Amino acid sequence: MPSKWFMCPNEEIIEIEKCLDKCPYGRRCLPRPYLERIGYDREWRGITPSMAGNGPRLIHLKRVKDYVVKPQGRAFAFLGIQTHQQISFHDFNVLTEEKLSDDKMKGIADLLEVDEERDGWYILTDWKTWGSYRVMRALGHYYVDVQTGEFFKSGPRKGKPKTKKEKRIDPAQADIKDVKYQLNRYRMFYEGKKFRISQIQMACVIRDGGVRIAAERGLSNNIEMIEIPIIPDVQVHLFYDTLTQEVEDAFQRPGTVRKCDDWECWGGRRCEGCEVREPCEEMGS
Ligand code: SF4
Ligand code: SF4
Repeated sequence: MPSKWFMCPNEEIIEIEKCLDKCPYGRRCLPRPYLERIGYDREWRGITPSMAGNGPRLIHLKRVKDYVVKPQGRAFAFLGIQTHQQISFHDFNVLTEEKLSDDKMKGIADLLEVDEERDGWYILTDWKTWGSYRVMRALGHYYVDVQTGEFFKSGPRKGKPKTKKEKRIDPAQADIKDVKYQLNRYRMFYEGKKFRISQIQMACVIRDGGVRIAAERGLSNNIEMIEIPIIPDVQVHLFYDTLTQEVEDAFQRPGTVRKCDDWECWGGRRCEGCEVREPCEEMGS
C-alpha cells in the first residue's frame, strides 16, 4: 500500500487525494506540484539496487501499510529527484538514466561515460544530493577528542584535562556501505552487457555547500567526487539475495520480519522520523 495521507502543518491528517483536490485551509502550505510529486511512492518492482541500506521491515511495511507523509519531510528527496532530472542529458559518448536489468533485478544507473584515459573502458557515476555531514562521513573524515595539556581551574570539571576536537581522515572508515553495493550492482548490469568499467564514483552535490558548517567539515567544493571500490560480484549478489529473501519471507509470513539493524536505522535516528514507525512499533522487536 502506498502513502495515503498528508499531515498538515496543524497536525491534522488528510487524504492525499483530498488535499490535491482542494486544500480545506484556503492557502496551501506548499505548492501543489510539489505535493503531487512527493505524495506518491514508486510502483513496487521488487528489490532494486538503490534499496541498499533499507531494512527489510521498512521495505515490507511501506508495501503493506497505508501511512502518513509529512510534506516537509520529503524536501530533500524532492531535491534529489530534481537534480537527477537536470543532469539527465544525452551525448554521443554518454548514457544517462539508463534502465538496466538482468535475470535477478532491475535498476536505473545515473551516468556512464567513456574513460578518456583508457580506450574501450567506461566510468560509472552516481549523483547524490547530500548534506555536508553525510559527505564528510563518506570521505572517511571524523573527529576525535585530544587533550590540550591544560586543565579546568574551576567549575564542576575542575582538575580535569581540557580537550579539543581534531579531525582525522581514514578512507578505511568511509561510510559508503550502501552506495558500494548499489554502484557495484550497476557495474554488474553494464558488465553483463559487455561494457568494461574502469572506475565507479559518486558525484555528491552538497546541500549546504559554501556555508560555514561545510567549510568546518573540510568541504570547500560544492560537488565532491568520491571513488567507490570495486568489490567482488559474489559479495554483491549475496547482499541483495539476502535482502530479497528477507522481504519475500515477510510477505509470506507477515509479522515476522526482523527490525532494521543498527546500520539500516542509523543507530535509531532514522526511526524518529520513519513514516511506518507506528506499525513497526506494533510489531515489536
Ligand atoms: S496543502 Fe498543506 S495544509 Fe492544505 S491540505 Fe494539503 S497538506 Fe494540508
Ligand atoms: S521505525 Fe526504525 S526499525 Fe522500524 S521500520 Fe522504521 S527505520 Fe526500521
